Amino acid sequence: MINFNIPPFVGKELNYIREAVENKKICGDGKFTKLCSSFMEDKFNCKKILLTTSCTHALEMAAILADIKEGDEVIMPSFTFVSTADAFVMRGAKIVFVDIRPDTMNIDENKIEDAITSRTRAIVPVHYAGVACEMDKIMDIAKRHNLLVIEDAAQGVMSKYKGKALGTIGDFGCFSFHETKNYSMGEGGAILINDLKYIDRAEIIREKGTNRSKFFKGQVDKYTWVEYGSSYLPSDINAAYLYAQLEVVDEINNSRLNAWQMYYDGLKELEIDKILELPTIPDGCEHNAHMFYIKCKDMNTRDELIDYLKENQILSVFHYIPLHNSPAGKKFGKFFGKDFYTTKESERLLRLPMYYGIEGNTIQYIIKNIRDFLGSK
Ligand SMILES: *Cc1c(COP(=O)(O)O)cnc(C)c1O
Repeated sequence: MINFNIPPFVGKELNYIREAVENKKICGDGKFTKLCSSFMEDKFNCKKILLTTSCTHALEMAAILADIKEGDEVIMPSFTFVSTADAFVMRGAKIVFVDIRPDTMNIDENKIEDAITSRTRAIVPVHYAGVACEMDKIMDIAKRHNLLVIEDAAQGVMSKYKGKALGTIGDFGCFSFHETKNYSMGEGGAILINDLKYIDRAEIIREKGTNRSKFFKGQVDKYTWVEYGSSYLPSDINAAYLYAQLEVVDEINNSRLNAWQMYYDGLKELEIDKILELPTIPDGCEHNAHMFYIKCKDMNTRDELIDYLKENQILSVFHYIPLHNSPAGKKFGKFFGKDFYTTKESERLLRLPMYYGIEGNTIQYIIKNIRDFLGSK
């Protein structure tokens, strides 16, 4: 069977995990946690990056830092993972879903402004497949309406928008290091804090509501409970796994980009013949090959293709069922305006196997099977 995903593993992970264990420092904020955050702060030119237990938790921290309260409205696409919405719903917010653009599957920046009301507090762009949303326009809208921007950059580690790393453009950015993402620590994530004024409070929220990180820095002589918070810091064992991959982050990125390009080149002819559609990378966006997806003519064709590929030992998967159609989405959110693309495009989308180390002949075999099936239809 050709797997859909294989978690990244570069070799040094086990040495670093061993070192963390031998350091007798396996809780949070040990050596490897610090190495990971300072490496990323430099690489992505970010003021502060705090490693978290997941991207879901990074989003929860952002919602707390943004002071989201009962009755506030938060704008986001419906074509996203549940956590994008959940983090804000847990603070009592109502989710206002805005339609996506069919070319990138990202929130349609031209439909955001009409969805803003006096209750709107934040916009949450999701960089689907590691391809940036139209951030200039989104930041301009946010500025004019005094809204916060929280980037769900779970899939966008190493991607850029007009030269800036994703996650560093809004007020907060959230990364995921889940095993299905480009760089992994099993379960984990990070919050990127782009405005210095939030750093102290972020450290407190992440450390159970205590000023423990100030204490460790020698800024206070005892630590105490100062705010509400939770435990959002990951074990140094997980950070050790991640650090091995960060050391070779460019190599992993290039290897994924090559795999992506091979799919693209091999399937381009089918797009010219209007048999399927390929992803679009708008000008100014540097993506990270998080995903390779195709869009079939309709849902039926897509589902038949999934079955055909499976018969040929290839695991391909569809993606999000739009949140506004789900039971919780109906309860906690509403779709603003008409759903032109969210449902229709999500039903046609199919994700192909993509992971670090996928071999060229595996990709060629997958391309051949797609051609055989769709070409004969
Ligand atoms: C993976 C993902 C998340 C959740 O990440 P976790 O680290 O598993 O919590 C959130 N948003 C998007 C868009 C994702 O792809």
